[in-house]
Amino acid sequence: MSASATIKLSVVIPVFNEEGNLPMLCSRLYPVLDGLGRSYEVIFTNDGSSDRTGVLLAAQFAARPEVTRVIEFKANCGQHMAVMAAFERVRGEVIVTLDADLQNPPEEIPVLLAQTDAGFDCVGGVRQDRQDSAFRRHVSQLVNWVRSHATSIQMTDQGCMLRAYSRGVVDGVVRSGAANTFIPALAYSLAQKPTEVPVAHEERHAGTSNYSVYRLIRLNFDLITYFSTAPLQLFTIFAMFCSACSFLLVVVLGLRRLIIGPEVGGLFTLFGILFFLISVCMVGIGLIGEYMGRTYQVVRNRTGYHISRILESPE
Ligand code: UDP
Ligand code: MG
Repeated sequence: MSASATIKLSVVIPVFNEEGNLPMLCSRLYPVLDGLGRSYEVIFTNDGSSDRTGVLLAAQFAARPEVTRVIEFKANCGQHMAVMAAFERVRGEVIVTLDADLQNPPEEIPVLLAQTDAGFDCVGGVRQDRQDSAFRRHVSQLVNWVRSHATSIQMTDQGCMLRAYSRGVVDGVVRSGAANTFIPALAYSLAQKPTEVPVAHEERHAGTSNYSVYRLIRLNFDLITYFSTAPLQLFTIFAMFCSACSFLLVVVLGLRRLIIGPEVGGLFTLFGILFFLISVCMVGIGLIGEYMGRTYQVVRNRTGYHISRILESPE
């Protein structure tokens, strides 16, 4: 689906209710890109914003139509789907992603490009002196730990969206057809020569984070469940352990019944049998889960967004 690479750089920005940030973002981003001396395009995805984001993006397209493209979603489909829709349409040889709220300073883009120029195909920014709440930072640490143990993905700062990819990696992400995924991790898993660089991080310029605790949990669930079926496997292993223990209990109680005779009116024996049957059910649920997990791996590839219109100049 991707068009052929005709320009050097595509900058991809997901935007959801960022009317307070877009003017400042554009006034900082375009001069940086103009100063690079390479051909570029900026692709904004308006992820179903309900504020003036759509109007501001249309104005930006009118102001710089030769280097600006705007994808409008019909409804809010999530940051990663917004990035995915842009990935499917990029024209650049190198693709940079960043947030619209100026937490990722556009002035850091040349730092990433130095790495892609040096031959790295996936450059991850590592936020220095991260300007987020203590809660967010702790959640990141926890998810980092779980991810590094449950999956084979090794990244220092998975949550940083200031990243650069070669066209090959982005095409791979697109070909995977993934919905409900975590793009930095998926891209990393497809990269041959990944690297990381420290980048600055700023406080959100205006507005508040779009991630409530609920959305944060869902996002991180996407990250873990997309890349591993470890939660299901842990459940099955735990159920098997319970099964083995209760089987032993049944044997012990059975022997006591034969040697000592009935205890507490046979209640112990009943409990032993009950525990065993419950564990058998648990193993069964775990096994069903295992098969469902495999089915899910096949089924999860489907488009997760709907476009209402695209503003762009012909190639
Ligand atoms: N975003 C989006 N769709 C969403 C949520 C966020 O396109 O449903 C965009 C948002 O406009 C911003 C980026 O994704 O450009 C990161 O969002 P935010 O700053 O709210 O997240 P945080 O920095 O708190 O992780
Ligand atoms: Mg932010």
